[in-house]
Amino acid sequence: MPISNIAATALLISSIANKLSKLNKGSLPEGGQPSVFDLEDGIFKLIEEGLLTFNAIELSTPEEASDRLLGHVADAVKKLQKSTPILILDGIFGNQTLNFLRLPSCLGERPFRSIPGIDVNAESIHPQPGSTERPLIRFFIESAPRLTNSDEEEHVSAGWDAWTELINLDAQRTLDASEANVIIRTEPLDGPGSKLADADGGPLGNQLKEVRFDKTESWTADKLLYAAIHEYGHILGLHHSDTPGNIMYKRYQPDFIGVGRGDETDIINIWGART
Ligand SMILES: [Zn+2]
Repeated sequence: MPISNIAATALLISSIANKLSKLNKGSLPEGGQPSVFDLEDGIFKLIEEGLLTFNAIELSTPEEASDRLLGHVADAVKKLQKSTPILILDGIFGNQTLNFLRLPSCLGERPFRSIPGIDVNAESIHPQPGSTERPLIRFFIESAPRLTNSDEEEHVSAGWDAWTELINLDAQRTLDASEANVIIRTEPLDGPGSKLADADGGPLGNQLKEVRFDKTESWTADKLLYAAIHEYGHILGLHHSDTPGNIMYKRYQPDFIGVGRGDETDIINIWGART
């Protein structure tokens, strides 16, 4: 986005947040009202999530436009609320909806980029459902998020088991990066609390894939295993699910870990059931 647009967007968001805050006073109980600052943050997040966009005219006339945009924000909020049974569908941008937006999520699947510094000799991996041969994924752990009370590399490796026990595929750690199909590493992504990790989309083929865990996140053993299973799901060709209770659900679910029913059906469709 050009600098002038960023400034115009910030001005517009600030104007909308102020109006929303006044509007909220009548529709939300005392204590349930987010501050103007929180609303600004929330509107930014709606934009990031692709639920809200502004056009050039709206950007050039923030004062007049923001009235109309209150409707757009309400629509975006409704769309978000509709996507989850956790929220009440009322179109009101209150604390409950804001807190949901702040739950950590996956940065998502990225298109393939070549990874510098690594010569790829890895074998090409393709799903072979129904075959008696099982393709073997080799993963290389360059770095893993630090855990205080458990072995991080063990957790990062165990993430593969959740999938391979269901499908016609094996995964094995390699200590030689040049023969790896998947490189696992930590990098500072976006600071603690928001995005946990990301991965290249699959399913594999002859490309070297990468999983990145956010180095700045405060990791627990459960959170790390959860994120690992989710990201490997992307590597294996799965997209995000709209249904909580699936590991491919976009947002982190602190009370859930493992592979859900929908995940199981989707992964078996690609790789075939393990026999
Ligand atoms: Zn994801």
